[in-house]
Amino acid sequence: MTPEFTPEREIDASRQSEDVGEAALRPQTLSDFTGQKASRENLSVFIHAARNRGEALDHVLLHGPPGLGKTTLAQIVSRELGVGFRATSGPVIQRAGDLAAILTNLQPRDVLFIDEIHRLQPAIEEILYPAMEDFQLDLIIGEGPAARSVRIDLPPFTLVAATTRAGLLATPLRDRFGIPLRLVFYTPEELSRIVARGAEKLGFALSAAGAMEIARRSRGTPRIAGRLLRRVRDFASLSVPEGQVVEVDVADAALTRLEVDALGLDGMDRRYLRRIAEYHHGGPVGVETLAAALAESRDTLEDVIEPFLIQEGLVLRTSRGRVLGERGWLHLGLTPPPRPEN
Ligand code: ATP
Repeated sequence: MTPEFTPEREIDASRQSEDVGEAALRPQTLSDFTGQKASRENLSVFIHAARNRGEALDHVLLHGPPGLGKTTLAQIVSRELGVGFRATSGPVIQRAGDLAAILTNLQPRDVLFIDEIHRLQPAIEEILYPAMEDFQLDLIIGEGPAARSVRIDLPPFTLVAATTRAGLLATPLRDRFGIPLRLVFYTPEELSRIVARGAEKLGFALSAAGAMEIARRSRGTPRIAGRLLRRVRDFASLSVPEGQVVEVDVADAALTRLEVDALGLDGMDRRYLRRIAEYHHGGPVGVETLAAALAESRDTLEDVIEPFLIQEGLVLRTSRGRVLGERGWLHLGLTPPPRPEN
């Protein structure tokens, strides 16, 4: 019996219920955190300055595609500051009272992490503004003529917010973050270091070439690298005796069985590319049309599938819709149409 897997999901950088093994692979300190050099170095300076002054760190906005380490960095910020960590997410905060309860329970200089901040309701967002700026909470208590407003002082705290869609944030909210950091896709070299460390932590021997093979096929995303690493280990357990080094051919065979191709694309990515090529002659085609044809939500296409395809030049986002790039045609083994003469 081979281990069960669902090829289309392995490469999806969004969180999955089976991601329990992730915790073991999470770096714990900034120096442990590989990649994102610019963000890491800046954060390090700001954290040390805030620590030395004994002040709360300015609010931090982390934005970028899923699985690049936003939650991990938020936890590291609190650990490096030596303060408490509270986590919630935009869609979970339904009422003003929910946010008030969280904010009033913070200790001075604590880190409050709000994931998916772009999904916060506008009414809740308004409460957040004075809380972020003046550490004050303005609440309306009661209803109708008996309603009155109360002001509560909050301890100074650091809001670390994460979003895959900085563009969806209202300008007043975005402007209240003193430290906006954009996370970028990792290079294969950075990912291979992450994979090698992960293999070590999981206690299995993986050759350097094997680690690089997984890294090159992980779409620039540590969460995917971690997941593929665990699947390679599963397949290796069938053919490689315990304690023996897992070589590149075993990694390659496992990834091929997972239908992850040489560029790291999976079945869903290829369906997306093929749809534009075969049904729309390479585009342009609107994202809604693609989402309906592929039975995926527009958000999934925009947040999870497209960022890597766009960064690799496989797809171009134009004002008239998505267009297959030359690399996209070639990756599908098709000939790009001749460029129009100007
Ligand atoms: P989402 O937006 O989906 O919440 P995220 O950006 O918050 O994703 P994390 O949950 O922080 O991503 O990271 C996903 C996985 O990748 C975790 O297992 C984490 O350990 C690993 N990871 C992320 N960044 C790094 C890194 N720089 N070095 C090593 N592992 C990393």
